[in-house]
Amino acid sequence: MRPTRAFIDTHALRANLARLRQLAPGPKITAVLKANAYGHGQLVVARALDEADAFGVAFLEEALELRNGGITKPILLLEGFFGATELPFLQRYGLWTVVHQREQVEALEQAHLERPIKVWLKVDTGMNRLGFEPEQVAQMHARLSACASVAQPVNLLSHFASADEPENPQTRAQLACFEQATAGLAGLRSLCNSAGTLLWPQAHADWIRPGVMLYGISPLADQTGQDHGLLPVMRLESQLIATRFTRAGETIGYGGAYTVANDTVIGTVAIGYGDGYPRHAPTGTPVLINGHEVPLVGRVSMDMITVDLGRVPVGKVGDKAILWGKELPVERIAHLADTIAYELLCGVTRRVPSYTPDFEFDDGC
Ligand SMILES: *Cc1c(COP(=O)(O)O)cnc(C)c1O
Repeated sequence: MRPTRAFIDTHALRANLARLRQLAPGPKITAVLKANAYGHGQLVVARALDEADAFGVAFLEEALELRNGGITKPILLLEGFFGATELPFLQRYGLWTVVHQREQVEALEQAHLERPIKVWLKVDTGMNRLGFEPEQVAQMHARLSACASVAQPVNLLSHFASADEPENPQTRAQLACFEQATAGLAGLRSLCNSAGTLLWPQAHADWIRPGVMLYGISPLADQTGQDHGLLPVMRLESQLIATRFTRAGETIGYGGAYTVANDTVIGTVAIGYGDGYPRHAPTGTPVLINGHEVPLVGRVSMDMITVDLGRVPVGKVGDKAILWGKELPVERIAHLADTIAYELLCGVTRRVPSYTPDFEFDDGC
């Protein structure tokens, strides 16, 4: 079997949820599992996070996969439903939905459902992506409160644009806007993603919606999850499948993009951008082999990368190579590749099998 794989540490997941409860002891937690749980496998993650109060996904199909896998907790559709034809599914599968625009309110008003649906009315407090203008909120809240297809009370939610920047005044402004727009209205409140949970305790309200921190990742630039008492959940690893002695002046890989400075041993590792390793990782990006950080050299290929093992090589064919994990934070790799850890985690592709070392799951397929 190809030795390229992702290990998912379910104990770390549970520890990260407990750490979030410690950071935010008051609110309930919607554990965000969209995008296949940020690339970790949403059923594995949902089963491990049985202490969460609800799960959050982007849209209906993601929620149905959880229900088909036997997950019975509340599930919130963070983007809401895309049309009235989805409403019978929301009812049948007991899904909660965000309502962020007028057409969704109209669809609910025109629906004839046997059981009402739980809705979270979204307020656009400055993100300018989804949600009602603050001035429309009271009216929409009244309409939904009078709607037979909607469970009461109607809850209220917003999303921060810059919660990861402690000095940025936008978060304070968004919070004030939300409080003003929702003053006196019935319903529970939710504002915080991971960064909000970490930096803005005054905004914790009734429910928080952490995603990336569950996976052991810091939502703040220049920090790692470990700085906040979190444990990385994914370890991405592969193997050295070839080594060769190269002389100073030889070039490595596509475009001859890297020239060997001193005679050395180059190792080839069986992972590439076809697996989700970032093609933009530059020469010098660390790869962990036998406890040594060795530099990536040359371009990332679809199925392989090349590393400089040194003149006295630190690894041989068959040795394990760790691309990211506890010993090598994915935040570091993301920074070097000019992206964020979210993108690297979500980007691990289908051909990389994932394993949970502690127990085997029947994935329902
Ligand atoms: C993705 C998402 C979250 C979680 O964000 P993190 O930064 O991963 O914590 C929370 N709320 C909404 C609406 C989201 O779309």
